[in-house]
This record gives sequence, structure tokens and C-alpha cells, in this order.
Amino acid sequence: MRIFANVKTSINRYKDYRTMTKDDLADFYQSKCDYYQEYVWVCLVVGTILSVFYIVPDYMLNGSIIPTLIPRLTVLGILLLFLIVLHFSHSRAAIVTADYFLVHSIIVTTICAAHFLGHKTLASEFFLIMNLIFLIAGFVARIREITVSYIIFFLEILISHFIIRYENFPIIMILIIPCGLAVIFSHVILTFLYLDHYRLSQKLELAMITDPLTQVYNRHLLEKIVTKNALMNMEEPIAIAMLDIDNFKKINDEHGHYTGDLTLLYIGQKLSKETHSDDYVIRFGGEEFIVIFKKCDINNACARMEQFRQDVEKAEDSPVPFTISVGVSKYTGDFSKTIQNVNHALTKAKDSGRNSVVVV
Ligand code: GH3
Ligand code: MG
Ligand code: MG
Repeated sequence: MRIFANVKTSINRYKDYRTMTKDDLADFYQSKCDYYQEYVWVCLVVGTILSVFYIVPDYMLNGSIIPTLIPRLTVLGILLLFLIVLHFSHSRAAIVTADYFLVHSIIVTTICAAHFLGHKTLASEFFLIMNLIFLIAGFVARIREITVSYIIFFLEILISHFIIRYENFPIIMILIIPCGLAVIFSHVILTFLYLDHYRLSQKLELAMITDPLTQVYNRHLLEKIVTKNALMNMEEPIAIAMLDIDNFKKINDEHGHYTGDLTLLYIGQKLSKETHSDDYVIRFGGEEFIVIFKKCDINNACARMEQFRQDVEKAEDSPVPFTISVGVSKYTGDFSKTIQNVNHALTKAKDSGRNSVVVV
């Protein structure tokens, strides 16, 4: 039955969510925020501007717009501040703070306006409408942030009641509690649904940077590293090695393309196994691989590649016996220049008779 399948899927999503580390969760919510914030900020801007139009019912109730004009227009100043924060900040914490600051500014300025109104009965309608704004802001927030924001909302109503004395205060409270719970519950469901989208995009992203044959990274990762300047701020030394299978064409010609593929798979897996988890192993081209050794000086990188070269030469579990040539260079801070250096070192290794490690 479909309903049981849905329950099972929901339980799996819940388990997946519960097993996420703190960093995973931060990344998940940042991704959710990046995805929805465009919708949220546009709606909040429109909602804030529309809240100024409450001067029309103010006029109808008071016969003048003057008493409520200042609180109604103040929200536009806060809107400007909100837009400035959004322009300069991309972190989820800053975005969520700005979103909820604007939401609560609408509430506080409206409460101030209500203070000047003869009839306070319309306050309950306004507080109910605010649930819509809470529903929108919740798209980028964590459940606990939505809950805290609702608690602040209740306090705002409660405290202002002691000053303003809402005529229908019990009704306001009774109506807002189920609305608040509905908003929180709907965001619990939406958060778990977004988890599917998040996992799928993670899989696609990984597939994009993974070489399907060897299961190590491919050139897309290199492009990412270069465009994001990912190695720029590393304080520890970095060394880069370029490795090429000797006479690989001969392996293809003598043993067939399939054995050639198995040899590539073998070397890719062996490199992954024998490097550290934070090093990058990248298939650069046909039978050429790049290894980015993090926290590793040039001597250490050289010793590790020499050991690897000897292991390959002596290996008994490889599809066919083969050797490799390796060029090593230290990372200079300029990625393209370092790649040129390792390429130069590799050419030297090839020219000096192959099956060797050369440093430039
Ligand atoms: P050298 O020692 O100078 O590196 O010579 P080489 O034969 O290893 O290098 P060469 O550039 O002449 O040949 C590389 C060969 O790798 C040619 C190409 O057909 C083969 N190749 C590239 N990609 C793949 C692949 O995915 N699978 C297989 N089986 N062969 C591939
Ligand atoms: Mg080769
Ligand atoms: Mg080659």
C-alpha cells in the first residue's frame, strides 16, 4: 500500500537526518537556504511593502493616517537595512537573522500603530496574517529557529497586551497556537522532503567529479580547485605529483583494451588506498594521474611516490606487469605553474628511460 511505502520512506529520511554530523547539518541547511532564500526575500520585501498599506484601514478606523504613519513607514527603513545585509552576506546565520528581524519589525511597528488606533479588534486579523509570513520565512530556517521565533511572537503579543489591552486577547491566543503548530509541522515535513533533493544533488555533484572507470576524481575537480582557489589559503606545504603509466599503448595493443581498462582501475584504486584521505587523486587524462598531497613537503611526497613506484613494479596482483613514471613538484601558490612544473618533471622521467621519480 502506498501509505505504508510513504511511512517507510519518511522513517528512512528521519534516520538519515538523525545520523548527520554537525557539519553535514550545517551544509544541509546552508543548501536549503541557498535554494529558497530568493523566494523568501522577494516575498518578505513584498509583504513588508504591503504592510504599509495598512494605513488604509487605519484611515477607515481613525479618520486620519497621521497617528499611525510613523510606525507604518519605519518598517521601510528596516527593509532597507535588510536589503543591505542580504547584499553583503551569504552565510545562513546572517540571512536567517535578517529575515526574522524584518518579520518581527513588521510585528512591532504594527503593534505600535495599533497603540494609536481607537479599535484594537483588527489586531487579531493582523496576527493571523503574520502566520503566512512565518510560513515563508521558515523555508530557510531550522525548526528550532522557527519555534524560537514563534515564542518571541507570543511574547510580543503578551507584552503589548499589557500596554494596549487587546479587546479579543483570548481569541488571538487560541487562534495563533494551532496556526503556529501548523507552520512548524509543515516545515518539519518540508525539511525532510528537501533532504531527498539534497541527497540527489550530492550524488550528481559527486558523479560529476568522479571518473567512472577508476572511481578517483576527474578533471572537473581540478577545475573546481582552480576556480575556487581551494589550495590558496592552506598554511601547510602542498606537493603535487603527476604519474603516467609507461608504454600503456603496448598494454592495450598486446593484451587488449579491457586489460588496459583493468590496469587503469588497478592504479586508481592503489593510489586511493596508499594516499591519505584528505589528499586528492585525480585522473588527469588517459593513463595520467595527478596526486595533490596536502600537509606534505616535497621530500616526503617524493619518498611516498618512490615507494609507490617500487610497489607497482613489484606488484603481483596487477592485471599485467607494468611500471610508472612520476614527476613531483612543490605547490608554488600558482596552480597552472605547478602543473607545468610537474609535467616538466614527468617528461624528464620519461626521457631518462621511464620507471623513475623526478623532482622539479
Ligand atoms: P609513454 O610511456 O611515453 O607514456 O607511452 P604510452 O604508450 O603510455 O603513452 P601514449 O600517449 O602513446 O598512449 C596512451 C594510450 O592510452 C593511448 C590510448 O589509446 C590509451 N588510453 C587512453 N585512455 C584509455 C582508456 O580509458 N582505456 C584504455 N584501455 N586505454 C586508454
Ligand atoms: Mg604513458
Ligand atoms: Mg600519457
